[in-house]
Amino acid sequence: MANLTKDLFIGLSNNKFLNENAKRWGFRLGANKFVAGTNIDSVIETIRELNGNGIRCTLDNLGEFVADKAESTQAKEEVLRILDVIHSENLDCHLSVKLTQLGLDIDHAFCVANMREILRKAKGYDLFVNIDMEDYSHYPQTLDVLYTLLGEYDNVGTVVQSYLFRTEEDLEDLKKVRLRLVKGAYKESEDVAWQKKEEIDRSFILLAKKRLLGEAFTSIATHDHNIINELKRFIEENKISRDMFEFQMLYGFRTEMQFDLAKEGFNFCTYIPFGNDWFGYFMRRLAERPQNLNLVMKDVFYT
Ligand code: FAD
Repeated sequence: MANLTKDLFIGLSNNKFLNENAKRWGFRLGANKFVAGTNIDSVIETIRELNGNGIRCTLDNLGEFVADKAESTQAKEEVLRILDVIHSENLDCHLSVKLTQLGLDIDHAFCVANMREILRKAKGYDLFVNIDMEDYSHYPQTLDVLYTLLGEYDNVGTVVQSYLFRTEEDLEDLKKVRLRLVKGAYKESEDVAWQKKEEIDRSFILLAKKRLLGEAFTSIATHDHNIINELKRFIEENKISRDMFEFQMLYGFRTEMQFDLAKEGFNFCTYIPFGNDWFGYFMRRLAERPQNLNLVMKDVFYT
């Protein structure tokens, strides 16, 4: 049953018709629980409040699977403006971007050129840009783009997913690169990815420990208290410097725990999605945790 629900929401997240139309609906179905606002200006106060509580942020201007060059160019222009706002408002923030929003499905060189422009501007402001990892069909291209950019910029990193068999091996090539570690949000085939929660969790813990003993910064991105507690013990036992990692969670999830981890003195970063292209992101959150539906049902029936 849980798998069926997951498949249903993942299916909906990829539905082009619904994704396109949802842009015109405004926030519906309770999406405002997990999406912080419609544009950068509408999330500045949220960021300030989090920063005031010792929490840094990473901003995601929602959008993915763009097939039109003009739309990708517009997305890039918005990202450039977001960088200006982060800088001028002195926010403790970095950026998260999706390459399929910036032209990965259109033309590799066009996507790289967009990223170069973003990284150049971010570098001028001393800001970091993280490339979100999308589904497996985009995985090799995403790493290709990353490796090209790493030859020119040091303010870029990406995400690795513990459900993929190949991640452990890929970490060898990525050992000097700043990374976010996640479990993985897409539906992948059993040829390339673990399917059972226990296997994905075991892999997450193994990869997190490897990274924590390594030489580059890692964002440990999970809402799973069991994993966080195990890693906290590991960090303590191995005297790992708190400067070498942070915990990350998504906006709207386990907010109390987010504040508690920051109060305990851990570096903490909240991932803040915003924008009109919310449908796919929102459906993936429902796929991960059907209980999230309880949170939003009230909005469906009472607004
Ligand atoms: P789950 O496996 O969903 O939950 C484990 C356990 O934690 C649950 O059984 C429950 O006991 C507890 N729990 C979880 N959530 C809650 C809650 N809200 N309230 C109470 N208890 C809860 N995926 C990608 O593929 N690419 C990305 O680039 C990417 N970026 C991400 C960035 C961030 C900051 C985060 C947090 C996630 C990102 N993800 C990304 C999504 C990720 O891959 C997972 O799909 C998602 O985080 C769900 O897995 P989980 O580790 O949080 O724990």
